[in-house]
Amino acid sequence: MITRLTDEQKADFLKRGFTRRAFSKISSVLAAGATLPFYNEAALAQLSMIGPLPPDAVKINANENPLGPCPEAAQAIYNVIQKGGRYWYEETFNFARTLAEQEGVKPDYVLPFAGSSDPLHRAVLAFTSPSKSLVMADPGYEAGSRAADFIGSKVHKIPLRKDYAHDVKAMAEADPDAGLIYVCNPNNPTGTLTPRSDLEWLVANKPKGAVVLIDEAYIHFSEAPYCTDLVAADKDVIVLRTFSKLYGMAGLRAGAAIARPDLLAKIRPYGAGALPVTGMVGAHASLKVKNLVAERRKLNRQIRSEVFEFLEKHNFSYVPSESNCFMLDAKRPAAELIKLMAQEKVFIGRVWPAWPQHTRITVGTAEEMEKFKRALLKVYA
Ligand code: PLP
Repeated sequence: MITRLTDEQKADFLKRGFTRRAFSKISSVLAAGATLPFYNEAALAQLSMIGPLPPDAVKINANENPLGPCPEAAQAIYNVIQKGGRYWYEETFNFARTLAEQEGVKPDYVLPFAGSSDPLHRAVLAFTSPSKSLVMADPGYEAGSRAADFIGSKVHKIPLRKDYAHDVKAMAEADPDAGLIYVCNPNNPTGTLTPRSDLEWLVANKPKGAVVLIDEAYIHFSEAPYCTDLVAADKDVIVLRTFSKLYGMAGLRAGAAIARPDLLAKIRPYGAGALPVTGMVGAHASLKVKNLVAERRKLNRQIRSEVFEFLEKHNFSYVPSESNCFMLDAKRPAAELIKLMAQEKVFIGRVWPAWPQHTRITVGTAEEMEKFKRALLKVYA
């Protein structure tokens, strides 16, 4: 949450080319004590949904994890609830220390948050402005671009390559004054990976002064290496971690920004306050479960492969994904398919303007995906 701007931050905003109008818009929202009207995945999915869902709905529209937190996390959260009358900052520090150890970075390279939307929005506020643009993929995860729109920063949307990787060459060339280059790996909504060599190339060849924000919300579902070693090597890189996806804690809220301390210092001032101790202990307990990532990755891959086999057998087209979501080619305006599936109580979606015939499907439980398959055959019968 963004709270109050210091005089120094106000001067910085003006120096970075914000008009007084844009600046007063931001200030007035902050003065009202409100959060900025930014969107996260659930809010974006909710936009395309009408009314409350029936209790037997299959909800595979927001890249959530139906498994929820692992038992160890649930137990840690249960244990801490009675102690919840205190702030327990140490739980946040303990979580950050363990995460830093596991990621191979120094402790002061980790800044915990209640999820990763918060540091994503802050990075846009800190590194873009009317004269410093945001560069991202198309289709890509829109939350950052909405934050950029709100503060009047230009957004360059660069189409994915034919192989569905980020077009890092085009992204590096998009704007010599880019402030932030956002790469989501695996990408949301396509679930596709950008090769490690391309990411390294981008970091080496980006415009001077730009920061590369690598959002690894879905990395645990894939076999791709994390990019935190680029952070450890002191590159101009911020990696985002979340516990909302593989770890099943979207509603519980835990995440982190991992970067050089001078980059973290730029995003730290935009908010304040203690983090929910439930999220912190849940995340910390999850990190300590040895095989959790491997087991959940395997389960997701198995269900996803079964869905892909089904789609091939029935001649549907889709984009092969390494994540817990994939794009299905509806072969018609995808919004129509979303409506028809909703009538079968299977809630899929959403649609990206760049690919109007595709809709995103989240990989749910095996049972949910069976219902999805049945509904899909019925709709196309
Ligand atoms: N980044 C990506 C790519 C996402 O898809 C999402 C949510 O779905 C987020 C960040 C933010 O999630 P959270 O704030 O729950 O960590």
